[in-house]
Amino acid sequence: MAIKIVEVGPRDGLQNQPVILPADIRAAWINKLYEAGLRSVEVGSVVRADRIPQMANSEEVIELINPPEGVDVGVLVPNLKGLERITNPKVNDIGVFTAASNTFNEKNINTNIAGSLERIRPVVEQSLSRGLKVRGTVSCIAACPYEGVTDIATIVSVCEALYQMGCYEIVLGDTIGAGTPERIREVINALTPSIDVSKLALHAHDTHDNAIDNVAAALELGVSSIDAAAAGMGGCPYAPGAKGNVSTMKVVHFCHQEGLETGVDEGMLSIAEQFILRAIDQFS
Ligand code: MG
Repeated sequence: MAIKIVEVGPRDGLQNQPVILPADIRAAWINKLYEAGLRSVEVGSVVRADRIPQMANSEEVIELINPPEGVDVGVLVPNLKGLERITNPKVNDIGVFTAASNTFNEKNINTNIAGSLERIRPVVEQSLSRGLKVRGTVSCIAACPYEGVTDIATIVSVCEALYQMGCYEIVLGDTIGAGTPERIREVINALTPSIDVSKLALHAHDTHDNAIDNVAAALELGVSSIDAAAAGMGGCPYAPGAKGNVSTMKVVHFCHQEGLETGVDEGMLSIAEQFILRAIDQFS
């Protein structure tokens, strides 16, 4: 069985580092991730530079990357204004995001769940009409840093809304790493009556060093798309205490141990990790 690893380090990882890297370094890293065999990479986001300065110049990064034929070149897009900034034909995968928590959305994007879905709808419509596919992330699927454990029915309705809009994949974001294998199973089992498991992905955080157990639980239930960040970078600027994303190496190594294919070369991935860790060190 083949597992799709979605590398989110160049966006979710770097935006949480207290260092602003030049576009050419970000692009060189992404190219190394492609060389390691990653075929789905979130390369940046088109958010306001004053809010997330680490992601400024994502357009320049996109100019400089050399994605192999057929790969997913993902960019996170908060609204229609962001989508208008995406003009480079290399980009084929638009990321939209909301949360299963009104308070988290208010803090992150200044609107509640319903407001976020209204903002996302035209982004999905226009992306699809431009021939771009759309991946939708729902944050706080285990717990919200402000509201605590989130409601399963709310998660299901938000995921269904994104799926019905036309998202090809729904990403279950355990934003603060509060998930346990039991919780991950509960969420997936609540979703699969209405959304096929092949359309689900897991975005795990390693706050309590148990992310790989959550990944394993998702894989056992048939999820075959896993977000991860090289060198385990990340956190969330709007989720106090959130630690890094599950590391790509951990997920890739685990998959290989289990006899699952990822297409990723662990040695080349290690080289890509060392490259970005050195760059962060150098620019800090
Ligand atoms: Mg994350």
